[in-house]
Amino acid sequence: MFDAIHWDTDLIRRYDQVGPRYTSYPTAAQFHGGIGPFDLLHALRDSRKELRPLSLYVHVPFCAHVCYYCACNKVITKDRGRAQPYLRELEREIEIVGRHLDRRQTVEQLHFGGGTPTFLSHDELRHLMSQLREHFNLLNDDSGDYSIEIDPREADWSTMGLLRELGFNRVSLGVQDLDPAVQRAVNRLQSLEETRAIVEAAHTLQFRSVNIDLIYGLPKQTPESFAATLAEIIALQPDRVSLFNYAHLPERFTPQRRIDSSELPSPADKLAILQGSIEQLGAAGYRYIGMDHFALPDDELASAQEDGSLQRNFQGYTTHGHCDLIGLGVSAISQIGDLYCQNSSDLGDYQQSLGNGQLATLRGLHCDADDKLRRDVIQQLMCSFRLRFADIEQAHGIGFQQYFSAIWPHLQEMARDGLIALDDQGIVVRPAGRLLVRALCMLFDRYLDEHSQQRFSRVI
Ligand code: SF4
Repeated sequence: MFDAIHWDTDLIRRYDQVGPRYTSYPTAAQFHGGIGPFDLLHALRDSRKELRPLSLYVHVPFCAHVCYYCACNKVITKDRGRAQPYLRELEREIEIVGRHLDRRQTVEQLHFGGGTPTFLSHDELRHLMSQLREHFNLLNDDSGDYSIEIDPREADWSTMGLLRELGFNRVSLGVQDLDPAVQRAVNRLQSLEETRAIVEAAHTLQFRSVNIDLIYGLPKQTPESFAATLAEIIALQPDRVSLFNYAHLPERFTPQRRIDSSELPSPADKLAILQGSIEQLGAAGYRYIGMDHFALPDDELASAQEDGSLQRNFQGYTTHGHCDLIGLGVSAISQIGDLYCQNSSDLGDYQQSLGNGQLATLRGLHCDADDKLRRDVIQQLMCSFRLRFADIEQAHGIGFQQYFSAIWPHLQEMARDGLIALDDQGIVVRPAGRLLVRALCMLFDRYLDEHSQQRFSRVI
């Protein structure tokens, strides 16, 4: 299962197309306004009845500086006072949601994302964690996966000490690129020393895992300059590396309008950067987990992929897919049983709803039987690179080949092209198909049409 990726430029050119990243199926593009707080409360009641374990996501939307490539939901401000009214309403949401759950439901996974979670002061972080502990059953023995996104420009050793003391044991650092010319072009000036200091602090303080985020396809990048960045990053020995493709969509994301598109690497250079990076990471012992993610062989993601327990949710690859995911904060998404729901993405609306004592759920969807079936298929292909038809037939009471007869010719074509092995038993994604697994999953997506595809980035 762990053969290296086979790089085939012709296949990549042919199958590279715009598509979702499948952190959920159906994707958030299908969410509609017919879902509100009542649906969330109903789903929380079911979760409580079944005492399902929990994964909490907490969104902190503030950043002190704007990165021009950014496509996140964030508020750029130098005014640290903006955090206070937000935290007040966030804590109200924590209290309301916590009240509808059972103390016996343990929080196996916790993730602080943003924005920049470390925009908050030490006191604010302390208070927020104490509120979470008061209303949810957080583990105290360091056995949960409690992670936080860190901007090394907004953290130091004392921040890391505080985070460890508060119970965090994993960190994810935003780096993107170390070349000063690239950093200037995207307005994110961050020295290697700043990043190294945080990685060293994480190791010394015995955080269990360090992830570093990189982006290829940024302005001024060349295959040589990015190889130099990656060599420095590999020397820091993070447990995981996320290598994202920059999608330049200035009409959708305002900060990207400040990027000079003539400085972007050509498609051929982007492919060369990706190919070189995969080779470099492979030579350094990193395994390709799937969809932009690499991990050292002793990392939990790699072992979970090995034993078939790896899953995917809004936080990317996870070993906690069996938990109900509760999203807290502006724009946060929850996945509870068969319900997906999302809070308002507008800071003012979010604060106003909670200020009125109401949850800020604004949209979402209930999965029907077909959604659940396709979700299973896509999950297995994304996480294990293989699918046994008998498993799906048993779980969902269908005949696989009949159910998917319309896409069968496309699967056969992919098999002829060497992306997959296909027989009566199932599908195995071949080394040449691993980078293109998203194109395979798109065949099983009932909602894709040309209009919806405009919302997504290219596969590679
Ligand atoms: S990339 Fe991250 S740090 Fe930069 S503006 Fe966006 S959310 Fe903030």
